[in-house]
Amino acid sequence: MFNIVIFGAPGSGKGTQSEYLINHYGLFHISTGDVLRDHIKRGTELGKIASSYINDGKLIPDELMICILENVLDEHPEEEKKGVIFDGFPRTTEQAKALKEMLERRGGKVDVVIGLDVPEAELIDRLIKRGKESGRSDDNMETIKKRLEVYHNQTSPLRDHYVAEGVYAAINGTGSIESIFDSIKAAVDNCRK
Ligand code: ATP
Ligand code: MG
Repeated sequence: MFNIVIFGAPGSGKGTQSEYLINHYGLFHISTGDVLRDHIKRGTELGKIASSYINDGKLIPDELMICILENVLDEHPEEEKKGVIFDGFPRTTEQAKALKEMLERRGGKVDVVIGLDVPEAELIDRLIKRGKESGRSDDNMETIKKRLEVYHNQTSPLRDHYVAEGVYAAINGTGSIESIFDSIKAAVDNCRK
Protein backbone atom coordinates (compact mmCIF):
# COMPACT_ATOMS: atom_id res chain seq x y z
CA MET A 1 0.00 0.00 0.00
CA PHE A 2 1.47 3.33 -1.09
CA ASN A 3 -0.61 6.47 -0.73
CA ILE A 4 0.05 9.65 -2.67
CA VAL A 5 -1.54 13.06 -2.15
CA ILE A 6 -1.38 15.24 -5.23
CA PHE A 7 -1.48 18.83 -4.09
CA GLY A 8 -1.64 22.21 -5.78
CA ALA A 9 -3.76 25.20 -6.74
CA PRO A 10 -6.75 24.93 -9.09
CA GLY A 11 -5.38 24.31 -12.58
CA SER A 12 -2.00 23.11 -11.34
CA GLY A 13 -2.40 19.83 -13.23
CA LYS A 14 -3.47 17.44 -10.47
CA GLY A 15 -5.91 15.56 -12.69
CA THR A 16 -3.53 15.35 -15.66
CA GLN A 17 -0.61 14.06 -13.60
CA SER A 18 -2.93 11.63 -11.76
CA GLU A 19 -3.64 9.94 -15.10
CA TYR A 20 0.09 9.35 -15.57
CA LEU A 21 0.43 8.08 -11.98
CA ILE A 22 -2.45 5.62 -12.49
CA ASN A 23 -0.89 4.25 -15.67
CA HIS A 24 2.59 4.00 -14.22
CA TYR A 25 1.94 2.72 -10.70
CA GLY A 26 -1.52 1.12 -11.02
CA LEU A 27 -2.87 2.99 -8.02
CA PHE A 28 -6.52 3.75 -7.22
CA HIS A 29 -7.44 7.37 -8.03
CA ILE A 30 -9.90 9.43 -5.99
CA SER A 31 -10.56 12.93 -7.31
CA THR A 32 -12.99 14.62 -4.92
CA GLY A 33 -13.83 17.17 -7.65
CA ASP A 34 -14.77 14.30 -10.04
CA VAL A 35 -16.82 12.57 -7.31
CA LEU A 36 -18.78 15.80 -6.72
CA ARG A 37 -19.25 16.53 -10.44
CA ASP A 38 -20.58 12.99 -10.90
CA HIS A 39 -23.21 13.64 -8.20
CA ILE A 40 -24.15 16.91 -9.90
CA LYS A 41 -24.50 15.13 -13.26
CA ARG A 42 -26.74 12.45 -11.71
CA GLY A 43 -28.82 15.09 -9.94
CA THR A 44 -28.46 13.54 -6.46
CA GLU A 45 -29.27 15.41 -3.25
CA LEU A 46 -25.55 15.68 -2.57
CA GLY A 47 -25.05 17.02 -6.09
CA LYS A 48 -27.52 19.82 -5.42
CA ILE A 49 -25.69 20.83 -2.25
CA ALA A 50 -22.27 20.55 -3.92
CA SER A 51 -23.13 22.64 -6.97
CA SER A 52 -24.05 25.67 -4.87
CA TYR A 53 -20.60 25.65 -3.24
CA ILE A 54 -18.66 24.80 -6.41
CA ASN A 55 -20.30 27.49 -8.55
CA ASP A 56 -19.49 30.00 -5.86
CA GLY A 57 -15.82 28.93 -5.76
CA LYS A 58 -16.15 27.71 -2.17
CA LEU A 59 -15.17 24.47 -0.52
CA ILE A 60 -17.75 21.86 0.42
CA PRO A 61 -17.99 21.86 4.27
CA ASP A 62 -15.35 19.64 5.89
CA GLU A 63 -17.68 17.28 7.72
CA LEU A 64 -19.59 16.46 4.54
CA MET A 65 -16.47 16.17 2.37
CA ILE A 66 -14.73 13.87 4.85
CA CYS A 67 -17.78 11.64 4.96
CA ILE A 68 -17.91 11.47 1.13
CA LEU A 69 -14.25 10.51 0.94
CA GLU A 70 -14.54 7.79 3.56
CA ASN A 71 -17.54 6.34 1.69
CA VAL A 72 -15.49 6.08 -1.50
CA LEU A 73 -12.75 4.21 0.38
CA ASP A 74 -15.30 1.89 2.01
CA GLU A 75 -16.81 1.09 -1.39
CA HIS A 76 -13.44 0.04 -2.88
CA PRO A 77 -11.65 -2.19 -0.35
CA GLU A 78 -9.71 -4.15 -2.98
CA GLU A 79 -8.51 -1.11 -4.93
CA GLU A 80 -7.55 0.62 -1.70
CA LYS A 81 -5.09 -2.14 -0.86
CA LYS A 82 -2.99 -1.22 -3.92
CA GLY A 83 -2.65 2.32 -2.62
CA VAL A 84 -4.51 5.51 -3.44
CA ILE A 85 -3.85 8.77 -5.25
CA PHE A 86 -5.77 11.46 -3.36
CA ASP A 87 -6.47 14.25 -5.86
CA GLY A 88 -8.07 17.40 -4.43
CA PHE A 89 -8.15 16.09 -0.87
CA PRO A 90 -7.16 17.26 1.73
CA ARG A 91 -7.87 20.94 1.12
CA THR A 92 -8.07 22.10 4.76
CA THR A 93 -6.22 21.32 8.00
CA GLU A 94 -9.35 19.59 9.27
CA GLN A 95 -9.39 17.32 6.19
CA ALA A 96 -5.67 16.55 6.60
CA LYS A 97 -6.30 15.48 10.19
CA ALA A 98 -9.24 13.30 9.11
CA LEU A 99 -7.20 11.68 6.33
CA LYS A 100 -4.41 10.83 8.74
CA GLU A 101 -6.85 9.18 11.16
CA MET A 102 -8.72 7.40 8.37
CA LEU A 103 -5.51 5.91 6.96
CA GLU A 104 -4.21 4.98 10.41
CA ARG A 105 -7.39 3.00 11.07
CA ARG A 106 -6.74 1.16 7.81
CA GLY A 107 -3.09 0.50 8.56
CA GLY A 108 -1.69 3.08 6.17
CA LYS A 109 -0.41 6.64 5.97
CA VAL A 110 0.27 9.46 3.54
CA ASP A 111 3.55 8.29 2.03
CA VAL A 112 4.27 11.29 -0.17
CA VAL A 113 2.68 14.64 -1.02
CA ILE A 114 3.40 15.81 -4.55
CA GLY A 115 3.08 19.60 -4.55
CA LEU A 116 2.73 21.14 -8.01
CA ASP A 117 4.08 24.70 -8.24
CA VAL A 118 2.64 26.86 -11.03
CA PRO A 119 2.69 30.69 -11.18
CA GLU A 120 -0.70 32.32 -10.73
CA ALA A 121 -0.83 33.89 -14.22
CA GLU A 122 -0.38 30.47 -15.80
CA LEU A 123 -3.04 28.92 -13.54
CA ILE A 124 -5.55 31.53 -14.69
CA ASP A 125 -4.65 30.99 -18.39
CA ARG A 126 -5.07 27.23 -18.04
CA LEU A 127 -8.42 27.47 -16.23
CA ILE A 128 -9.88 29.97 -18.71
CA LYS A 129 -8.78 27.69 -21.54
CA ARG A 130 -10.31 24.64 -19.81
CA GLY A 131 -13.54 26.57 -19.25
CA LYS A 132 -13.84 27.20 -22.98
CA GLU A 133 -13.07 23.57 -23.89
CA SER A 134 -14.96 21.65 -21.19
CA GLY A 135 -17.61 24.15 -20.20
CA ARG A 136 -16.90 23.57 -16.49
CA SER A 137 -19.17 25.98 -14.68
CA ASP A 138 -16.50 27.05 -12.17
CA ASP A 139 -13.85 27.85 -14.82
CA ASN A 140 -14.86 31.49 -15.37
CA MET A 141 -12.89 34.55 -14.30
CA GLU A 142 -15.09 35.48 -11.34
CA THR A 143 -15.13 31.98 -9.82
CA ILE A 144 -11.44 31.35 -10.62
CA LYS A 145 -10.49 34.43 -8.57
CA LYS A 146 -12.51 33.14 -5.62
CA ARG A 147 -11.04 29.63 -5.90
CA LEU A 148 -7.50 31.00 -5.91
CA GLU A 149 -8.27 33.05 -2.81
CA VAL A 150 -9.72 30.00 -1.06
CA TYR A 151 -6.61 28.06 -2.07
CA HIS A 152 -4.28 30.69 -0.58
CA ASN A 153 -6.27 31.04 2.64
CA GLN A 154 -7.40 27.50 3.40
CA THR A 155 -5.37 25.00 1.37
CA SER A 156 -1.82 26.29 0.86
CA PRO A 157 -1.06 26.27 4.65
CA LEU A 158 -1.16 22.47 4.42
CA ARG A 159 2.13 22.65 2.60
CA ASP A 160 3.99 23.59 5.81
CA HIS A 161 2.16 20.85 7.67
CA TYR A 162 3.40 18.19 5.24
CA VAL A 163 6.88 19.72 5.00
CA ALA A 164 7.10 19.38 8.81
CA GLU A 165 6.05 15.73 8.51
CA GLY A 166 8.88 15.21 6.02
CA VAL A 167 6.66 13.90 3.22
CA TYR A 168 6.36 16.97 0.98
CA ALA A 169 7.99 16.93 -2.47
CA ALA A 170 7.88 20.26 -4.30
CA ILE A 171 7.57 19.80 -8.06
CA ASN A 172 7.88 22.46 -10.76
CA GLY A 173 4.48 22.18 -12.43
CA THR A 174 5.42 24.10 -15.58
CA GLY A 175 6.90 22.72 -18.81
CA SER A 176 5.79 19.66 -20.76
CA ILE A 177 3.40 17.17 -19.13
CA GLU A 178 6.02 14.42 -19.64
CA SER A 179 8.86 16.38 -18.05
CA ILE A 180 6.69 17.22 -15.03
CA PHE A 181 5.82 13.54 -14.69
CA ASP A 182 9.52 12.63 -14.82
CA SER A 183 10.10 14.83 -11.75
CA ILE A 184 7.09 13.29 -9.99
CA LYS A 185 8.32 9.76 -10.74
CA ALA A 186 11.73 10.59 -9.29
CA ALA A 187 10.13 11.93 -6.08
CA VAL A 188 7.79 8.92 -5.73
CA ASP A 189 10.50 6.35 -6.42
CA ASN A 190 12.73 8.03 -3.89
CA CYS A 191 10.05 7.51 -1.20
CA ARG A 192 9.25 3.94 -2.21
CA LYS A 193 12.85 2.76 -1.69
P1 ATP B 1 -7.37 20.84 -10.76
O1 ATP B 1 -7.66 21.68 -11.93
O2 ATP B 1 -5.91 20.94 -10.34
O3 ATP B 1 -7.79 19.43 -10.93
P2 ATP B 1 -9.53 22.23 -9.35
O4 ATP B 1 -9.43 22.98 -8.05
O5 ATP B 1 -9.78 23.01 -10.57
O6 ATP B 1 -8.21 21.39 -9.48
P3 ATP B 1 -11.34 20.12 -8.42
O7 ATP B 1 -10.31 19.49 -7.56
O8 ATP B 1 -12.00 19.29 -9.43
O9 ATP B 1 -10.77 21.30 -9.31
O10 ATP B 1 -12.42 20.79 -7.43
C1 ATP B 1 -13.53 21.52 -7.92
C2 ATP B 1 -14.38 22.07 -6.77
O11 ATP B 1 -14.94 20.97 -5.99
C3 ATP B 1 -13.64 22.90 -5.72
O12 ATP B 1 -13.52 24.26 -6.10
C4 ATP B 1 -14.54 22.71 -4.47
O13 ATP B 1 -15.68 23.52 -4.52
C5 ATP B 1 -14.99 21.27 -4.60
N1 ATP B 1 -14.06 20.36 -3.87
C6 ATP B 1 -13.23 19.43 -4.42
N2 ATP B 1 -12.50 18.82 -3.48
C7 ATP B 1 -12.86 19.36 -2.29
C8 ATP B 1 -12.44 19.17 -0.93
N3 ATP B 1 -11.49 18.29 -0.60
N4 ATP B 1 -13.05 19.91 0.04
C9 ATP B 1 -14.00 20.80 -0.26
N5 ATP B 1 -14.43 21.05 -1.52
C10 ATP B 1 -13.86 20.35 -2.53
MG1 MG C 1 -9.06 18.12 -11.05
